[in-house]
Amino acid sequence: MALIVQKFGGTSVANTDNIKNVARRVKSEVEKGNQVVVVVSAMSGTTDQLIKWVNAVSSLNTKEEEAEHDVVVSSGEQVTSGLLALALRAIDVPAISMQAWQLPFYSDDMFRKARIEDIETGALTDALNKGLVVVVPGFQGITRSKRVTTLGRGGSDTSGVALAAALKAERCDIYTDVEGVYTSDPRVVTKARKLRKIAYEEMMEMASLGAKVLQLRSVEMAMKHKVRVQVLSSFSDKPGTLLVDEEEVMERRLITGVTYSRGEAQVTVTGIPDKPGIAAEIFGPLADAEINVDMIVQNISEASGNEKFTDMTFTVGKTDLDKALSSLKALKDKLKYRELITNDQVAKVSVVGVGMRSHAGLAQKMFKTLAEKGINIHVISTSEIKISVLISEEYLELALRALHTAYGLDEK
Ligand code: ASP
Ligand code: MG
Repeated sequence: MALIVQKFGGTSVANTDNIKNVARRVKSEVEKGNQVVVVVSAMSGTTDQLIKWVNAVSSLNTKEEEAEHDVVVSSGEQVTSGLLALALRAIDVPAISMQAWQLPFYSDDMFRKARIEDIETGALTDALNKGLVVVVPGFQGITRSKRVTTLGRGGSDTSGVALAAALKAERCDIYTDVEGVYTSDPRVVTKARKLRKIAYEEMMEMASLGAKVLQLRSVEMAMKHKVRVQVLSSFSDKPGTLLVDEEEVMERRLITGVTYSRGEAQVTVTGIPDKPGIAAEIFGPLADAEINVDMIVQNISEASGNEKFTDMTFTVGKTDLDKALSSLKALKDKLKYRELITNDQVAKVSVVGVGMRSHAGLAQKMFKTLAEKGINIHVISTSEIKISVLISEEYLELALRALHTAYGLDEK
C-alpha cells in the first residue's frame, strides 16, 4: 500500500461538477489500494473575490489587520475541502476534511506569505489508518499562537508538496488544467511539447522566469525533500510531467525550455559620475524599499574632462516601477546622474537547461537566432543553467518561436 498526495488546483474544483469529477479520481486511486491525502485549492476566482472584499474594507496597515486578511482569504479552501469530502462520501468513499488547525499545519506569522514550519501528522495518519481519505485545504496554516495564515498566492502547491514530504508519500500528484510542463507556452508556441521529465532545478528556473504551472516555493520544497512530484491534468488521463533529479533526466537534450515574462520594466540611469560605490548607492535604497532588481548592466564609463561618467541599466517588476522611480528621484542630488529613462514595453525571454553546464555555444545560438530575426537585445543575464535577454515586448512571440525552433525543441 502506498501513500499518495493528490493536489487539485482551482480549475479542477471550479464548480460542483468538477468537484464530483475530482472525487472519482480520488476514488480510483483508493481502489488501487492506496492511502490518499487530498489537498485542494479554492474554486478558481474565489481567492481573488475574497481579496477584493478585504480591500474594500481595509488598507491592511497593521499586522493584526493582515491576520484578518488571512482569516477571510483562507476560507475558499475550507469550502472546497468540505465539499470534496462530501462528494467522496456520496460515492461511498469514507472521507474527512481536516483544516490547518486540526492537523496542525504550523507556519510562521508572516501573514499573506507565511512560511511552513512544521506539520504534525499524527491525527492525519490516525484518520488514514481508519481507512479514511483525508482532505486538507491548501494555502492555509496556523501559527503557534493559533492565528490563521495563508502561504502566498498559488500556495496550495506548496501545501501539497509539504504534506507529501512530511508524510514521506510515494508521490505528490499535482492536478491542474494543463497536461504537464511544456517546452514553452503552448498558447504562443504551437509546436511546444510536453516534457516527460524535468529536473527540479530546471523547473525552479522555469517557475521563477514566468512559467506558471507550479508555485516556485513548492518546487524548492520538492527538491529539498526529494518529493516525486507529477504535474498532470484533472481533465485528461494522459501521463504528466515528473520532477526528478538532474541525473534522471535521461533524454539527451541541451535546452529544456524557452520561457518568458511580460512583467518587466527597464530603467536606465545615465551620466552617473563613475566612482567606487555607485552601484551600492543606487541599489541599496531600492533594496530597502523591497524592490527586487533582476537584470543589471553597467556601461563602460566615458571620460569628460577630468571626470568619468557611466550609465546603469536594470530591470524591476512592472508593478514596482513607480516605487523604483520615486526612490531614484530622491537620490538625484546625491548621485548627480543626468537622466532617468524607463521602458515598460519590454519582455524577458529565457532559455533553460541543465545541459548548459557541460556545453558551450548555447548562448551564442540565442544571440544569433535573435539577430537573424532583427531583434535587439537590451540586457543579458545568465546563470549556470539559464540565459535571459530583455527585448521589446512586440517581438516576444517571434523570439519565442524562433528560439524554440533553433534549439530543436519543436514537436516533430
Ligand atoms: N487559492 C489560492 C490562490 O488562488 C491558493 C492556490 O490556489 O494555490 O492563490
Ligand atoms: Mg496554482
